[in-house]
Amino acid sequence: MMHKHILIVEDEQKIAALLKEYLEKAGYRATIAGRGDQAVAQARKSSPDLMLLDIMLPGMDGMAVCREVRKFSDIPIIMITAKVEEIDKLLGLEIGADDYICKPFSPREVVARVKAVLRRINPEPAGKTLAIGPITIDEASHQARVSGAALDLTPNEFKLLQVLISQPGRVFPRDELLSRVQGYDCEGYDRTIDSHIKNLRKKIAAHLPGQEIITTVYGLGYKLSYTPQK
Ligand code: CA
Repeated sequence: MMHKHILIVEDEQKIAALLKEYLEKAGYRATIAGRGDQAVAQARKSSPDLMLLDIMLPGMDGMAVCREVRKFSDIPIIMITAKVEEIDKLLGLEIGADDYICKPFSPREVVARVKAVLRRINPEPAGKTLAIGPITIDEASHQARVSGAALDLTPNEFKLLQVLISQPGRVFPRDELLSRVQGYDCEGYDRTIDSHIKNLRKKIAAHLPGQEIITTVYGLGYKLSYTPQK
């Protein structure tokens, strides 16, 4: 896995070190620049994935750094300010920052913001594995398995299972399932969902005889749940 590189621009060494520690714990690679002018040079040289930028800096202030960096890069920038009043000013200036954090902050909050901004800018490609009991879904390869055995599902059956497994135990009304299964053949509506569910059940049951994974909740819809058998 590639670690995203966060450039911390902060002259207060203690704060910078703390942020670095938390970001690294969260799986990022973090480097520190202690001066504004240095930060611009580093951003140019190492093209980080995100910049945490304090405003009060020696060499060049954070706003000027932001403007300079924007001349050659559109990396996400989160400004850090010691004064709430500065945020209005920042917003008014439209210097091109993506988010703002006020001091004092909790390092956890900063990490959460970093994650949120990166997600917004760069949505993670589908590639998660969802699992409940013996059922797993690999979103990248579009492969569903039961106890390791591959299921041969149609795209709509796969999508249905994916929706159901995303929130085990939750009852999904038929019309919600219908709208979440994209590219749906609208003919027959509810019946179509019912027949997909029926096929899905059959395919799962082939590997898990006697166990009901997808339950009908009368008058409401369907849910997926798994109780290990003793
Ligand atoms: Ca500072």
